[in-house]
This record gives sequence, C-alpha cells and structure tokens, in this order.
Amino acid sequence: MGKVNIGLRGWRFDEDEVFDDDGRVRPLGVMDEDTKARVLRLTERLSDPCDACWLQYGQDDPQQCSPAEVIYGEPRGEVILCRDHETDFVYWFREVADEELIGTRDLQDAFHGWFADGGRAPEAYAGVEHVDEDPDGVPETPDPHEELPGIEEEIERVADEDLEALDVDLDDLDV
Ligand SMILES: [Zn+2]
Repeated sequence: MGKVNIGLRGWRFDEDEVFDDDGRVRPLGVMDEDTKARVLRLTERLSDPCDACWLQYGQDDPQQCSPAEVIYGEPRGEVILCRDHETDFVYWFREVADEELIGTRDLQDAFHGWFADGGRAPEAYAGVEHVDEDPDGVPETPDPHEELPGIEEEIERVADEDLEALDVDLDDLDV
C-alpha cells in the first residue's frame, strides 16, 4: 500500500484508502474520520495561494502570491506554504513555536500571528531539505479536479448535515 501526496507535499495518504483502482476518489463514507477530514480540507485548500504570501501581499497585490506547495498541521489548523515561506514556517515550528501547539488547530493562528508581526527565518537558515523534482519549474496551482478525480460527486453524495459537522465551506469549492 503506497503513501501519496495529493497536490501538495506534507500530508501523506494511503493511496488505496483514498483512490479506487481507476484512480477515482472513493466514497467519503468509507474513509476513516481523519482521512476524510484531510481530503475535504485539502480539496478546499488546493487552489489557495501560500498563507504567508497572502498575509504579505493578499490585500494590495494578490498577483504577487505564490501557489502553495506544501501543507503542515491538522485539518482546519493547517498552514499551506510556497517553497520560500516553507523555510520561515520550519524555523518557526522548530525554534519559536510552543510545543503544546503541535497537533492542534491553534497552529495556524499562531504561525499567522508570528508571520504577520514580521517573524521570519534568519538569513541562511537551512531548515528544509527536500529533493526538488523540478527546481527551475514555475510552481502551478494544483487543480482539485485533477488531483482528486470524482471528489465533487462524492461531496454531493454526503448529506449537508455531515458536511456541516465537518465544517466544510462549500463556497470555496467549485462544485
Ligand atoms: Zn509564500
């Protein structure tokens, strides 16, 4: 059973739990609660820009925002980042953040607050090591419909009350 990223690095999924043999999303009801929460949250967040870029430029110049490439944290407390801002996040997580935040939804607010107050990794902080498959490529915004084929139908099949319980905001989705 392989572990896969969907659209963004960070969260890893059991391929067999999320996708059927044809590569389409399985019914949400058969996933465990954590997987389901992550798949739904990811669907909402895939097309968003980097959180840190948004805090920096979102108001005045949204064009400057880079697409997110990585996702950290728990569903609804997650942080999504471009490769430049990933370094700031990793620095914050390792050196600044309160350990009690780990695994909680407060992580997002805490990082956003630190970053908005001007928090940054020191110059030359080398916190992130990952193999870059395409170092010169311009990152593109992942497309939820391509990354999660069939997700719209599966979401439509879930009763509204269930989605409310999961706190999913359908306005963010193009369904
Ligand atoms: Zn960014």
